[in-house]
Amino acid sequence: MAASAHDQQLPEAISEEALARIQASSDSASLEALRVEYLGKKGRLTGALRALGSLAPAERPAFGQRVNRAKEALDAALAARGEELRLRRREAALEASAVDVTLPGFGPTPGRPHPLSRTLTEICDVLGGMGFTVEEGPEVEDDYHNFEALNMPADHPARDMQDTFFVGDDRVLRTHTSPVQIRVMERQPPPLRIIAPGAVYRNDDDATHSPMFHQVEGLMVDRGVTFAHLKGVLTTFLRRVFEREVGVRLRPSFFPFTEPSVEVDVGCVVCGQRGGECRVCKGTGWLEILGAGMVDPAVFAHVGYDPEEFTGFAFGVGVERIAMLKYGIDDIRLFYGGDLRFLRQF
Ligand SMILES: [Zn+2]
Repeated sequence: MAASAHDQQLPEAISEEALARIQASSDSASLEALRVEYLGKKGRLTGALRALGSLAPAERPAFGQRVNRAKEALDAALAARGEELRLRRREAALEASAVDVTLPGFGPTPGRPHPLSRTLTEICDVLGGMGFTVEEGPEVEDDYHNFEALNMPADHPARDMQDTFFVGDDRVLRTHTSPVQIRVMERQPPPLRIIAPGAVYRNDDDATHSPMFHQVEGLMVDRGVTFAHLKGVLTTFLRRVFEREVGVRLRPSFFPFTEPSVEVDVGCVVCGQRGGECRVCKGTGWLEILGAGMVDPAVFAHVGYDPEEFTGFAFGVGVERIAMLKYGIDDIRLFYGGDLRFLRQF
């Protein structure tokens, strides 16, 4: 206990000293120590009361009152200082957390469609406007619908073109949306005009390939459907999707489920078909954009359509490919990274 200069133990002297020390205290621990030192069971002011017994009876009431007044003054000072220190701690904590409460608040951020959703919606809108209706099918397919019925029996070399994810006996993650064609034709007689948008899966992963990507499959079957219809539909479709008069070029190709088959190119949307130094089309002026062809009679045989009576065309277009060209995106992985800085540009 600190030695006191006020050995005479007058309550006013003790209280005066205590009040000064309370005012100077800087934290709640030292404040508590002062309370014990002056007001505790063995405290100095409590000790002053004990001196009461040695006083003449006539002086006792007055002295007792002086001690009580001193105690009340100390109690009040301790409480006031305690509150002051509490507020100071709170202020320091607020300052440390660096919240500027005068800044305006954040409003709700409006969401917007992902560029792939947007592109997919546009593709469906354009083809929907041409009379195609949307069909869906399972993403986990059986071997029959993904390969066999599309004229790719087991051991067909074309199966190697699609790096397949197998998920069990006879089950694959569909490698294209073409199995939806089969499922629709199995349950519905011609004529039909459908598109099947959705996710497809290939074991492939780099700047232009993703293990999951999106396709839109198109199929039209009726009496008298010809290659001219295919070309007309695709030319109109591509010009509407790219919102300009792009050139369209067909090159002979091979797919097991169409015969004849074509790869379809559009005039480069970046250089306007000029080529030259353009890196997107590598100077050719053309971009490969989709695959198509007349439905192979062997496919019709699987679903019970009469190839002598009906003909049809099918095409498959990559949604990411269209979105990348439309919006000038050079890495397919940006679509799936979830980076808001990227997504907010659309
Ligand atoms: Zn180009």
